[in-house]
Amino acid sequence: MQAINEALKKAQIILEEGGVIGLPTETVYGLAARIDIPSAIEKIFTTKERPFFDPLIVHVSSIDMAKKVTAYWGPASEALAEVFWPGPLTMVLPRDPSVNTMITSGLETVGIRMPNHPLALELIQEVGVPLAAPSANKFGKTSPTSAGHVRVEFKNENVFVLDGGDCDIGIESTVLLVRHRADKVELSILRRGHILRSDLERVLNEKGITFEFLEKIDKRESPGHMKHHYMPPIPLIVVTEPNLKPDQALKLINNKMSELPEEIESVKIQKPKNGIHSYELLKLSADPLLATREFYAQLREVAARGKDCILFYREDSQVGERWESLFDRLNKAASLIL
Ligand code: AMP
Ligand code: MG
Repeated sequence: MQAINEALKKAQIILEEGGVIGLPTETVYGLAARIDIPSAIEKIFTTKERPFFDPLIVHVSSIDMAKKVTAYWGPASEALAEVFWPGPLTMVLPRDPSVNTMITSGLETVGIRMPNHPLALELIQEVGVPLAAPSANKFGKTSPTSAGHVRVEFKNENVFVLDGGDCDIGIESTVLLVRHRADKVELSILRRGHILRSDLERVLNEKGITFEFLEKIDKRESPGHMKHHYMPPIPLIVVTEPNLKPDQALKLINNKMSELPEEIESVKIQKPKNGIHSYELLKLSADPLLATREFYAQLREVAARGKDCILFYREDSQVGERWESLFDRLNKAASLIL
């Protein structure tokens, strides 16, 4: 208890002084700074080597705090926040003019969520100001789900990490664009996550809110969605053909070496000069909730075993909304899909 209180105090002081800290949440660890200190926000981008066009999520500890950073809150946000907050749902809403545009990458909207982690909530409440936080990994690399992952990722930058244990959910929040129109609410899922479209529909129906999901969204409304992301340091190859034996897969990969870049969207991937001769299998639990919780940690562990590549066999049983949220990450982490 004493140690936790001291760690919370230390985190608060670092934030006050304009620093960044590793923040535990139920999704993944964040790299957090106070939204009211521009130099601290800038530090998030430089520490992560993240491009400025990729907006940050603002983390709050109460609905009142969320209202302060939005220009319009509205009945749909109220209904969804009541049910899903604290939790892994980020709502993109009109930005209050006081929110620094560095956080929103110049957009007129702001992404907000209330994390479901006692330490994160206590820290934000103590600080009294929302914290902007993207995932605590170098841009394009695998997200962190433990304090140790964050320390390793930023060992050169010496980032203080508030240790809140392993993340319960294991993948980033669902990002939902919410537009209150005169006659209905228009919704778009900008990023899949633990909260599913069916969960959102059920709650809005129960609350009697008229809504419509829009599939096609303007790319400008959803920046930061790169084709590649979450990548381990060695190539991850997704095999969708179950009868393709690992040896055959390696042969195919070596034939396609030219399709296996050493750098993807400015993220470096180790590619052995003499071809790919060894592999490690990435195996996931049959239950998608467990598989999601383990995913990033497994990816890091398997990548660290000194082999040339990682093979993941996609199975026919891995279907449904939950697996889709996970495969959204897995496919982006892959260098090649066979
Ligand atoms: P990360 O913090 O790394 O999980 O990334 C946060 C993601 O949330 C960004 O890459 C965007 O895709 C999304 N996001 C945050 N704020 C906004 C916004 N105002 N409009 C659209 N998407 C947003
Ligand atoms: Mg991220």
